Amino acid sequence: MEPWFIRYPKRYRREKSELRDAGFQAREALLAKEAGIIQLHVDFFHKGKPYSVVVEYPTFYPYMPFQMVSKDIPKGRHLGEYGGAVCFLEDVHQNWEPHYTLAHIIDTQVRGVIDRNLEPSDDPTKEGLYASPASGHIRYRDNCGILVPNFSIPEGHRYGHATLSHGPHVNLKKTPSGHISKVTGTSKQDVLYTVGDDLPNLAGVDPMQLKNQGVRWVRLDRPPAAADDGILDEAIRAWPELEKPNYRNGVDITAIIFQEESTYKCKQVAWVFVVREKQLGVTEPLYFNVRADILDPQIVIARTSRTKPLTGKKVVLIGCGALGSTIGFQLGRMNLNHLVLIDGDHLKYGNLPRWIAGASATGRDKVSVLRELITDANPMINVTTHPLKFGDINQREPEQEMLNDVFDADLIIDATAEFAASHLITLLAKEHAIPCIHVSATNGGFGGIVGRYMPEPEAFCWSCMQEALYQERPEFQDDDYRIRLPATEPGEPTEVRGCFHPTFIGTGFDLDAISMQAVRLAVATLCRGAEGAYPDLDWDIAVIDLWDEDKSIPIDPKMTTYRFAGAHRLCRKPHE
Ligand SMILES: [Zn+2]
Repeated sequence: MEPWFIRYPKRYRREKSELRDAGFQAREALLAKEAGIIQLHVDFFHKGKPYSVVVEYPTFYPYMPFQMVSKDIPKGRHLGEYGGAVCFLEDVHQNWEPHYTLAHIIDTQVRGVIDRNLEPSDDPTKEGLYASPASGHIRYRDNCGILVPNFSIPEGHRYGHATLSHGPHVNLKKTPSGHISKVTGTSKQDVLYTVGDDLPNLAGVDPMQLKNQGVRWVRLDRPPAAADDGILDEAIRAWPELEKPNYRNGVDITAIIFQEESTYKCKQVAWVFVVREKQLGVTEPLYFNVRADILDPQIVIARTSRTKPLTGKKVVLIGCGALGSTIGFQLGRMNLNHLVLIDGDHLKYGNLPRWIAGASATGRDKVSVLRELITDANPMINVTTHPLKFGDINQREPEQEMLNDVFDADLIIDATAEFAASHLITLLAKEHAIPCIHVSATNGGFGGIVGRYMPEPEAFCWSCMQEALYQERPEFQDDDYRIRLPATEPGEPTEVRGCFHPTFIGTGFDLDAISMQAVRLAVATLCRGAEGAYPDLDWDIAVIDLWDEDKSIPIDPKMTTYRFAGAHRLCRKPHE
């Protein structure tokens, strides 16, 4: 790629002539230019005092902004903690416009930065009221990180020990990860923190498989002054015992804890990990820093606050195939308390384009694989699994256990895509006064139906829907209770090798449109009546077309929705 000053020579000349016209002294670093980079040293006066900045232009200038550092701009909010990066726009990647030039930025922004740093202001018209946390500027090893608790260590403790819990395949020497599961104070008897029961699935593995690594922690009075190796020196000054590495599994891990401004004028605790790796035959260990991330369930809940009423709710998902696996994964990431997964099938290689896990899971129970994906995505949820086919119930113990797990649910989702099972599930749900959502797709993934069936005796039920679907036929003329049929690919489903049942040709992304309607209906149903929550939908049944079945082409999704006041006149059994 040619550098910008070759591609846009006019722009380059304008950049330099504007600096000259403004009376700024600009010198180009020649070595940098030979490498295709323009680096300018610019001297200018502000209120009678001389200042200088070093500016480096990116390859995609002027569509991307330059970076600026300065050694003599006074310290303050607009100068990076490490290296003196000048923060000259409130949000440089949002506010940068390609017609800006360096001369313009110095005149309009950098002068303001100097003034603000000399005389700080809380006036939002002069000042972007943002924090620039020190921990965000430290140099970390890529591709790793450790979860830390959101708690403040009591004042009386300046250093102590902690436990890093991690999965069995974590490489502590190269890419440490995991979570801090325990913190003790100056004496190991002073337990200051242990990971709560509300987070049963951290590390995405069975708790029995977790491994523990001892860590030492120390508190600093302020953010570290250095961004790299010097961090450990500051830690050693605070707790000299750290000088001697305490190797375990070939590494020594130190957690450095300090207060920093995390949001504007608001201080919070920050952690940085320094890992020392034992080198064979060498006395000096290798150092690197590992970033921490605060493990705070509230941060997650705040991002999906409309689903708050799901807290404490239990949902049963029967059928974890192409539709059910996606439903389970999306629903499981919300703040449900308990999700029950039921499916007797195992994952086959042919499932991959329409399932959410990969080839490495072939042969395993779909419910077990789905459980791992969900609990990794949402450490707060409880997931129970029953690798059983729902319909084939006998009086044996696992099946009884499964039924007990079903009948105290707040909602049942039937994604079995089997007529007999759907009939049974919707009947049982009504019997046990549990709202039920049914979802199915048609041949080819051309369309589908999503329906909600409430437990009240007179409420429109799944059997009512079957009657109403028949009303499409011309011989029925019951105008009040007609539901149109969804689009379907003409012909029979294709038999695919390796599959006991015929399956259809169709894409996962077409089916996902139907799954997501089921998730929206499920969340809306669970949030019913709660203020400020995900609002209820104004329909109970949706018929969805994703393809035009006559022309055999995909279309903008077409949805016809229905809500019926009572049962269908031809439907009797569930309403008696
Ligand atoms: Zn009915």
